[in-house]
Amino acid sequence: MARDDRLSPAPSPVGRPQGEGLDALTEGQLLKLLVDHINDGIIVMDRGARILWTNAGFSRQTGWSAEEARGRRPQEFLMPQEVRPSQAEIDQFDFDMVPEDFEDFQIVQNMRKDGGRYWVQLAFSQADLQEGVRVICAARDISGQVAAQDALAAAKAELEHSVNSDVLTGLANRRRLGEVLAEALEGAAARDGQVALFHVDLDKFKEVNDTHGHAAGDAILVHAAEAMTRSTREQDLVARVGGDEFVIVMPTAPTPQELAELARRIIHEVTRPLPWEEVELQCGASIGIAVSDPGLLDGEELIQQADFALYDVKQKGRGSYASYDQALADKHLEKKRMAEDLRRTVGEGGLHFHFQPVLSLATQEIIGVETLARWMHPTRGLIAPAEFIAMAEDNGLLTDLDMSAMQACAEALAELRGRGFHRIGASFNASSQTLATGGLLDRLKWTAERLELPHERLWVEVLETVVFGGDAAETDLAREIEGLVAAGFPTLLDDFGVGYAGLSHLAQLHVTGIKIDRSLVRTLSIDPTSAAIVHSIVRLTEELGLTVTAEGVEDASSAAMLAAMGCERAQGFGIARPMPLPQLIEWLDQFDPDMLFRDDEGSEEIMDVA
Ligand code: C2E
Ligand code: CA
Ligand code: CA
Repeated sequence: MARDDRLSPAPSPVGRPQGEGLDALTEGQLLKLLVDHINDGIIVMDRGARILWTNAGFSRQTGWSAEEARGRRPQEFLMPQEVRPSQAEIDQFDFDMVPEDFEDFQIVQNMRKDGGRYWVQLAFSQADLQEGVRVICAARDISGQVAAQDALAAAKAELEHSVNSDVLTGLANRRRLGEVLAEALEGAAARDGQVALFHVDLDKFKEVNDTHGHAAGDAILVHAAEAMTRSTREQDLVARVGGDEFVIVMPTAPTPQELAELARRIIHEVTRPLPWEEVELQCGASIGIAVSDPGLLDGEELIQQADFALYDVKQKGRGSYASYDQALADKHLEKKRMAEDLRRTVGEGGLHFHFQPVLSLATQEIIGVETLARWMHPTRGLIAPAEFIAMAEDNGLLTDLDMSAMQACAEALAELRGRGFHRIGASFNASSQTLATGGLLDRLKWTAERLELPHERLWVEVLETVVFGGDAAETDLAREIEGLVAAGFPTLLDDFGVGYAGLSHLAQLHVTGIKIDRSLVRTLSIDPTSAAIVHSIVRLTEELGLTVTAEGVEDASSAAMLAAMGCERAQGFGIARPMPLPQLIEWLDQFDPDMLFRDDEGSEEIMDVA
């Protein structure tokens, strides 16, 4: 029995509320306490909505006292005038007519005594008393939530706009372009018409940005956007699709003559100098033009055609325009085929890698080799990276390519070490894509472990332009480089002296060395300015404790100058050309410093496809 006692709660004494500190109150007093202090307004009405009683919360909410409210109907004084029913309707009102009021919350706008508006959430219930039906309404002020919701809706609308437009220029963005272009092509197909498309690329935009700063760059973009909007028709769409790239869609294609004229006008307008602060800014424009084939529905295809025409313009010297015609279409097809071949080759691991020795100028020993990709094309022979690296990048193959290079580099290093060349390191080139993708460090570590290679013999070359090319990506890449260096893989800044990084950047970047670009090295012995530049680069990097490699060393006098400056390493045709691994091994076996800069045999047979 004792057990049952514990299970069933003791009956509470009638009229005596339970709860700590409330024992002194009667239930009536407690209810009054609640009703007076609750923030919700409570109204008791009859079936006709005539107010019989209100609580203190009601008065706080509405500004009306209980006496003022009593006998009136909410519709008459709480409902704002603009939504208030007619007096006749109010007189006829009966809660029986609106059973749905009792089912769910209602959200309505009410009016205070001072005329101010606020949102309330209403909950109705009824009680059948002897005196008749009483309707109880609890009103909660939710103005705060409604305001928040309005703000949310406004933010959504704004987002919608920004999703479709470019914030800086107010032009349509890539997304909007896609929609409009798809519509335009459908419309054209339906009426047997054609859509024309311009791909506009600003020339020298980067120069403006680099010389005068981002604000100037922004001003130029706005100026160019205005020039394009001004030059086109109401029905045409101008979109900004990249940093300094624009696309113009003309849903009804003008004649070829008109298109050419429009292109000339846009180039003229964009090129017009723009006064800005104390200076004049100026950029140019190149335009690729494509007109849709009858029935074409693929917008991407049309953009690609204009893009290809633009590419042609840029190759021929910018500041002009070209239309995608049959000749370009043939070239385009060929390029696509090449891209396909490259995709297959990279996918099958069919790329070749050659290795170019790096000489220590101090000890006259070979201390390294650089891994350089080569593509043996079935019909075109050996193709140099100048042609296919860009193609790999455009087709998203660069990371795979770099990973193959890393693999080839590590395997070559293992092979060399197996043959007793323990003091040689091997480098490979890692593009920004590869660094940004992440995962290089892990694969490198894993490969080093698998092949039992000391980390300090595996070198990574990072392109200088890569590191300073983007803005947000910059820090990611810097971090990636730090990771490589921290793991003990020497990391070299490639092509130093031609990109964007000044000497000041070098201190911030945690590389272990640099490679001086061959454009500086080439003119070393004939141009005192490049000699001075190279000399100061060598001095500075030495002070920073970095290794320096001079690239493109072709003759003995350059090598001697570099050695005198204290440049530690040299690489170039004067030492050796890149060669396949078996040939490299043979070369290393026979290596004799005295044979350097003597002959230039064994040159690679590389096809010039460009
Ligand atoms: P890089 O990294 O600056 O490589 C050195 C380039 O200079 C090589 O060209 C090499 O053949 C050439 N070179 C070396 N010594 C001399 C010289 O004395 N005179 C002259 N005129 N040239 C010399 P290559 O092999 O055509 O490579 C061109 C570029 O392609 C490389 O420049 C590198 O940026 C890129 N590349 C090559 N392989 C890869 C790779 O696996 N991945 C990536 N991302 N890029 C690669
Ligand atoms: Ca390199
Ligand atoms: Ca280089």
